[in-house]
Amino acid sequence: MIIVKTTEEIELMRESALIVSKTLGMLASEVKPGVTTLQLDALAETFIRDHGAVPGFLGLYDFPNSLCMSPNAQIVHGIPNNTPLEEGDIISIDCGAFKNDFHGDHAYTFEVGEVAPETKKLLDVTKASLYVGIREFKAGNRVGDVGYAIQKFTEDHGYGVVRELVGHGLGRKMHEDPEMPNYGKRGRGKKFVEGMVVAIEPMTNLGTHRIKQLKDGWTILTADGKPSAHFEHDIALVNGKPELLSTFKYIYEALGIESNEEDEFRQVKI
Ligand code: MG
Ligand code: MG
Repeated sequence: MIIVKTTEEIELMRESALIVSKTLGMLASEVKPGVTTLQLDALAETFIRDHGAVPGFLGLYDFPNSLCMSPNAQIVHGIPNNTPLEEGDIISIDCGAFKNDFHGDHAYTFEVGEVAPETKKLLDVTKASLYVGIREFKAGNRVGDVGYAIQKFTEDHGYGVVRELVGHGLGRKMHEDPEMPNYGKRGRGKKFVEGMVVAIEPMTNLGTHRIKQLKDGWTILTADGKPSAHFEHDIALVNGKPELLSTFKYIYEALGIESNEEDEFRQVKI
């Protein structure tokens, strides 16, 4: 069942989402060769609590940390550890914050130093596919329209679309209806309704779409060991149009990147 949110609830969700956005922005300056994912996790937990929120992932389904940290061939759900990041790595950081009874949940894949050109292109295409999907989250469309658009864009670039993990509705619970796959058929699935909030999160593999899971019961990685990228935004359906609740602007400020990629999805100035 899709739980639609009131205007007031959407503003509370924006607050939770922006705490995650600022946490990722803080981490953007800390991601560098030599730092461990456990160190970054500790920084994030302190930052989230200092902003009056609780880490959304900590203890969720018994996950042990505040961040899902998935380097290189890891796709999602990696557990922070003591292995230092190395020059040329990529690292998907997925972060959640819970405040005022609502969750924020989004992710960005960072470059550690200089990465290989083919990996850089994977990141660019995966992030672009996120916006291709968000553009389809509008009145009159259905879940399959978002999935179809992301899958077509991704596969046209020759990359693999992960099937086993999907985006989701977001609200008082981290995972609400509907599931938001990054693949699908036009015109299929649940219809989008005003006031719904979703997390759209393409997970894109340089090689095969097939996955495997580590014995830790959490970490999902590519079956062929090639890199995978992951980007996620939180979006509400407002006035029949996608309204971004999250932002990458704090990341871009930290990294000195100019971007207007979010402008078309923002009715409220943040
Ligand atoms: Mg997430
Ligand atoms: Mg999510």
